[in-house]
Amino acid sequence: MEEYDFLVIGSGSGLDVANAAANQGQSVAIVEKGRLGGTCLNRGCIPSKQLLYHADVLKTIERADEFHIDATVEDVDIAEIVREVTEDVHSSSDAIERGLASSDRHDLYKAEARFVDERTIELADGDHDGERLTADTVLVAAGTRPAVPPIDGLEAVDYLTSREALQLESPPDHLIIVGGGYIAAELGHFFGTFGSDVSIVGRRPHLLPDADAAVAAEFTERYADRFDVYTGYEATAVVESGDAITLEARPFPEPGGNAANDVETVSVTGDELLVAAGRVPNTDTLNVEAAGIETDAAGFVETDAYLRTTADGVWALGDVVGEYLLKHNANHEARTVARNLFGEDLEPVDYSAMPFAVFGSPAVAGVGLTEQELRESDREYATRTYRYEETARGSAMKAEGFVKPIIDLKGEILGCHIIGPGASDLIQEVVVAMTAGSGTVRDIRDSVHIHPALSEVVQRAVSGQFTRGDGHDH
Ligand SMILES: Cc1cc2nc3c(=O)[nH]c(=O)nc-3n(C[C@H](O)[C@H](O)[C@H](O)COP(=O)(O)OP(=O)(O)OC[C@H]3O[C@@H](n4cnc5c(N)ncnc54)[C@H](O)[C@@H]3O)c2cc1C
Repeated sequence: MEEYDFLVIGSGSGLDVANAAANQGQSVAIVEKGRLGGTCLNRGCIPSKQLLYHADVLKTIERADEFHIDATVEDVDIAEIVREVTEDVHSSSDAIERGLASSDRHDLYKAEARFVDERTIELADGDHDGERLTADTVLVAAGTRPAVPPIDGLEAVDYLTSREALQLESPPDHLIIVGGGYIAAELGHFFGTFGSDVSIVGRRPHLLPDADAAVAAEFTERYADRFDVYTGYEATAVVESGDAITLEARPFPEPGGNAANDVETVSVTGDELLVAAGRVPNTDTLNVEAAGIETDAAGFVETDAYLRTTADGVWALGDVVGEYLLKHNANHEARTVARNLFGEDLEPVDYSAMPFAVFGSPAVAGVGLTEQELRESDREYATRTYRYEETARGSAMKAEGFVKPIIDLKGEILGCHIIGPGASDLIQEVVVAMTAGSGTVRDIRDSVHIHPALSEVVQRAVSGQFTRGDGHDH
């Protein structure tokens, strides 16, 4: 059995810690069953955002007449767009693999790992079938995969997950999407822009249910203008007959709310079905119990504040921990694990200003607490909404949307929520203020903002009179 100082399962953000271990002179094993670089590079952030940028270009052309520019799109070569994106991510992944294969500081095992004992794994598939590896420190960075919801008949239907959807070389005539989160929203935008009719079926009252309710409501309304949106519906059954797929959905009561008795079951027919109904952790296939690694009810690895699991010498990070299923979070956790393994003192992972963004149309971004979370916690807060249209740049762009900061009564930023163009960039100054500044609205208010740039919408949003949660001015 090969013995190492450090072993990582999964080559997404886990690779960052493997490199830090190698830089410390440790012997390092990397076990990866798929393409090097993990979900983000191969079937997540990178290909999806590359594809979505094409949709944004087309949308800009389609809006040209609002600016008195007569533009016509002659042709779109979707197959070529998808091939170019796929080639690009494959070449990045191949470069990582070549780099590791030629490194004398890493051993790469292209195989599936399974725990058989404490800090000991057995490999399956590939050239190493049946081999066992052990290490003083093991890092579980094995990510998640698409969840398959319990829909009658689904196993008999040739459905897509995000992985296959990102490879489709022609848009479906009518795409049915099950799920109302950001992956559903982004892929709906992509295929909808390139000509598919899109129907979205989501259980919660709004799309993007984890966003601030005001943002989620406006987003749902704007999507309902573009697509058939069935929010508050649970997909229950599906059948495929010839080229047609028919999905049945019934009203889904909110916890503690009323079942929507007056709303009837709906039936939607299309030619492709995309299931984007959440993600499940890969801990089941890893046999983590054999290593004494505890998981929560949903299967995510339990860790302490330093990202140590319940098994001695075993750490975890990224999606498999389940705190935030986002690449920048996985990278942030990787920095924490590397610091805790190789630095002087243990430091807890800091989740206090973890932003998210949705590259849909409209775009969305947010950080910190939502107004609904604050209401539930009974904490005092004040909020304010400022619309893009009220700034010079927003008006020039004929932009729609708003910025909604939420503060405590001393001006500390508790959260900020944005819907509108550039949301993923605009949120960043709020994150910096929350992380590296005083944490109050003064950091943004007192900084000179370029006029007339879009960032003025954030500055103006934090500069006027706020309304307290109880309705009084603040
Ligand atoms: C369609 C889509 C779009 C996304 N867009 C964004 C975005 O815009 N921004 C963002 O921040 N996040 C985005 N994400 C989420 C992001 O991809 C993940 O948060 C990130 O990849 C998690 O990194 P990780 O290192 O934890 O896991 P992963 O990147 O999933 O890496 C885990 C690796 O472990 C390997 N593995 C699993 N089990 C085993 C085993 N038993 N043996 C060997 N290897 C194993 C897997 O093959 C995989 O390569 C998106 C995800 C999807 C699906």
